[in-house]
Amino acid sequence: MAVAGTTAWAAALAAIVVRCMACGADWPGDRALTSCPTCGGLLDVVTPITGPIDPQRIGAGLQGEIAHSGVWRYRQLLPAIPGGAVVTRWEGHTPLYRDDRLAAWAGLDGGLVRIKHEGHNPTASFKDRGMTVGISHAKGVGARIVACASTGNTSASLASYAAAGGIPALVLVPDGKISGGKLAQTIAYGATVVQIAGDFDAALSLLRELTAKWDVYLVNSVNPFRLEGQKTIVFEMLEQLGWDAPDWIVLPGGNLGNTSAFGKALTELKEVGLISKVPRLAVIQAAGSAPFAAWFRDGYEGYAAVQAETVATAIKIGNPASVLRAKRSLDFSHGVATSVTDDEILDAKAEIDRVGIGCEPASAASLAGLRQLVATGTVKPGERAVCVLTGHVLKDSEAVVNYHLHDVDGQRRDGANRPIRVDATLTALEQALADALHG
Ligand SMILES: *Cc1c(COP(=O)(O)O)cnc(C)c1O
Ligand SMILES: [Zn+2]
Repeated sequence: MAVAGTTAWAAALAAIVVRCMACGADWPGDRALTSCPTCGGLLDVVTPITGPIDPQRIGAGLQGEIAHSGVWRYRQLLPAIPGGAVVTRWEGHTPLYRDDRLAAWAGLDGGLVRIKHEGHNPTASFKDRGMTVGISHAKGVGARIVACASTGNTSASLASYAAAGGIPALVLVPDGKISGGKLAQTIAYGATVVQIAGDFDAALSLLRELTAKWDVYLVNSVNPFRLEGQKTIVFEMLEQLGWDAPDWIVLPGGNLGNTSAFGKALTELKEVGLISKVPRLAVIQAAGSAPFAAWFRDGYEGYAAVQAETVATAIKIGNPASVLRAKRSLDFSHGVATSVTDDEILDAKAEIDRVGIGCEPASAASLAGLRQLVATGTVKPGERAVCVLTGHVLKDSEAVVNYHLHDVDGQRRDGANRPIRVDATLTALEQALADALHG
């Protein structure tokens, strides 16, 4: 059944160009493509650059719900999806914190480090920035079901935006391997959840088989429209810095969608003249899930997927979909990739949490990575860095409990913050506080 407005939408969507990065073929943007129909390559939405962008005009003239979105604000550099199809939950507008204790912990002078906190999005991860564009595109093309495989945050975000847009959502999650909070969000927002007896990589390949056969709109980061929304993390961070680019942008890498989006964002900002210097991207993977960092280290020879293992479930991905796009981002930005251990991730997270900011484990890979890059001399004293925190502390409360409340090899961790249990008497309370505060 035709919905009023869809014919006009179809023309606008068909005018969007989607290009294969492998063979260069162009495809109209009015279909749900997640790989090149000719060669299977990864796809990019082509951003029509018509000339320099006036920083004063960014976000001007937006009306209605869309005017509140920190993503659609940059619509000059986003696909021209008809306004009527846009599904927004006022995503973006996330804080860019300064905390000199975290700078010092990473080994840099105060003032040189900023923290871009993407946990301050509607479903508490950066995935919302991609999802507003992905689901708007899905709505525009008349998708009947939207689906993703997820380590948790994509599913929470998809479920929320699909519900907002009135489209049924299907989510495949690795059984028992996503955090309770993320699963709870996904269930609460009404998605159909299927737990797969296998890891994320198995769930994604299964879903790709399903979408090849059935009319299901896939919203994993192989979807080029989602990456368009994620570019706005970089747009917004640089606007917050007055378009004075830092030397480094440090981010966690899992499926490498963000790495891909960040490189595309920087390329476009340079092209429209909003920045003159391109910051270097530093992609940080968890040591047990670091195929891209290993490939980078070996001079891009002999790429091999791995069996992923890490406490940072959001980046527990052994066969990232976007490796080639990520390489392109590092090539363009003269970037680097490295890995950090789970202990380094958890210690960085404890620092970020303790200063009152907080994040989920995967997010802390960025600060752990910065500390390593400073220690090894890749990041030089005096250089400025922005670390991206990808998700909120409440996303993984199990990780907090494990770190602070449970011993490691029979030992309490340094800095573990354990609640104190006392009898309900003032004497007991005073005694316990005397021990805790002076002991
Ligand atoms: C998805 C996610 C990542 C990984 O991002 P990619 O684009 O897959 O590399 C990192 N941290 C959190 C919290 C995430 O949800
Ligand atoms: Zn192709």
